[in-house]
Amino acid sequence: MRYAILSDIHANLEALSAALDHLAGERIDTYLCAGDTVGYGADPSACLARLQQLNAVCVAGNHEWGCIGKLDLQWFTDAARQALEWTRDQLSFTDLEILRRMPLTMEAGPCTLVHGTLRRPERFEYLTDLAQAVEMAMRQRTMFGICGHTHAPCLIEYDAGHRKLGRILMDEADVRDVRLSPEPGLRYVINPGSVGQPRDGDPRASVAILDAEAQTLSIRRVPYPVAAAQRKIREAGLPEFLAERLALGR
Ligand code: ZN
Repeated sequence: MRYAILSDIHANLEALSAALDHLAGERIDTYLCAGDTVGYGADPSACLARLQQLNAVCVAGNHEWGCIGKLDLQWFTDAARQALEWTRDQLSFTDLEILRRMPLTMEAGPCTLVHGTLRRPERFEYLTDLAQAVEMAMRQRTMFGICGHTHAPCLIEYDAGHRKLGRILMDEADVRDVRLSPEPGLRYVINPGSVGQPRDGDPRASVAILDAEAQTLSIRRVPYPVAAAQRKIREAGLPEFLAERLALGR
């Protein structure tokens, strides 16, 4: 089984389309999405539709919860709140129903999906330190734990049997065809980075490919027409900052 792992698409249809074009040549069986499909960008409805067409397994992120009123908008920055209010008005009843049906966590084969961390999925905590990664790994009932939310790719290996950390790859350049060890006690925490709003200084869309049989993981960066996505954000009257940051990857 080959999995495409996406996260934090943030209504950026140009980035999502480029990522999916790239993945089309990769013999993907199942598409996984770790949340924040909407919010910030100008094409929330079209991005949801693309994932629906692919039968993607999707969990809810904080932006989905913001849209459907499960998370108070006071928890968001001004730019995010403005974008969410705009997004809500763009979505059809069907779109909103899709968001309502997204669970906070989901198991798919050897993968557990969550937007923040498994400790308290409804809090949308940012997984930013190793203690959180260990806790996430210990809560996984599957070998792979997939999260998003930080918009920065990483791969962390934890040996649950011996209670010790293995490889810690925070630089996406190191996560190219990484061979994963099939030992039963091993757990992996994977963040594929963000498709639609990378924040690691590289503006290209970020996606991961997990091959569960060959036991390999690769993070790929895919260029896309950033200027077109920026233009749509400006035309929609969304905060200028949301357009600017796409070019910076910040
Ligand atoms: Zn996000």
